[in-house]
Amino acid sequence: MLYYGHRKGTMVMDTFSAPHFHNEEAARKSLEGLLWPSGPVCAHCGTIDHAYATKRPGVYRCAEKECRKDFSVTTRTVMERSHLKLHKWLQAFHLMCSSKKGVSAHQLHRTLDITYEAAWFMAHRIRECMRTGGLGPMGGTGKIVEADETYFGRTSEPKPLKKPRTTPYTKKGWKGKGAARAIVALVERGGNVRTFHVAHADKETVGGIVATNIAHESRLHTDESRLYTEIGNLFSAHETVKHSVGEYVRDDVHTNSAEGYFSIFKRGMRGIYQHCGEKHLHRYLAEYDFRYNHRIALGFNDGDRAALAVKNAAGKRLTYRQPH
Ligand SMILES: [Zn+2]
Repeated sequence: MLYYGHRKGTMVMDTFSAPHFHNEEAARKSLEGLLWPSGPVCAHCGTIDHAYATKRPGVYRCAEKECRKDFSVTTRTVMERSHLKLHKWLQAFHLMCSSKKGVSAHQLHRTLDITYEAAWFMAHRIRECMRTGGLGPMGGTGKIVEADETYFGRTSEPKPLKKPRTTPYTKKGWKGKGAARAIVALVERGGNVRTFHVAHADKETVGGIVATNIAHESRLHTDESRLYTEIGNLFSAHETVKHSVGEYVRDDVHTNSAEGYFSIFKRGMRGIYQHCGEKHLHRYLAEYDFRYNHRIALGFNDGDRAALAVKNAAGKRLTYRQPH
């Protein structure tokens, strides 16, 4: 049983009773089962199930004549060269994949009893494993894809102040749109999301994203923003709701999925990742996309999500130097 601090009190987690969350040997076996379903895979030459165990725990030697190299289940994964125990990695994967809004490095630091610096590195590496964005077109014949944009936080290089700082935050942007970080979300109704952090949410940029990521046979749903007026002609239909006059749903026309996504993202980022550097914003978006695209409604549970992220750990390495 494990406790960790939560913004609204203390949450009890008894999910961690499984041995692989506590025992290093069990954690290694669990990882091997996930990453090597058909036997050890040589990290150097890719040969499957042609290696023998060495005396060192978890270390195998490739039996291919030209290779003969040693490897373990963490070689060439985000866990390579980490001094953290594997069972702590598995706990971190689980925490980050099961919480709807995410887990801060501070929470990982306290929960896993590791340094803040180690937790920060770990969180970014796990986030990298959650970057699974599809490249094929979204939607298709008879499918609806919503497109919407939002603004979150301030850019690192805001345009010069035109209004006093007391100007309230609006969708048009605090200190103007140029000062806010723009995010574009495409959501297939009842399906996946794909988000983009763009320097400027102008017609060219947003139109380009919409045109290249959504199958043109789809119905495009947006609000009345002029960003979509022309690009909308590419699609089998372009239907809009007029938010400016209080219209949010008309028959099956709405952008509620995109707005729901933004709402989870913003609440999570405000509550948990207060100081997200702009250069990392796309990584946080990938994290939220990953959870959204593997949500319960699509048939994934916490364990499935964590297992998927762990499987993505193979072949992804990061070179972070400094926690910010
Ligand atoms: Zn080999």
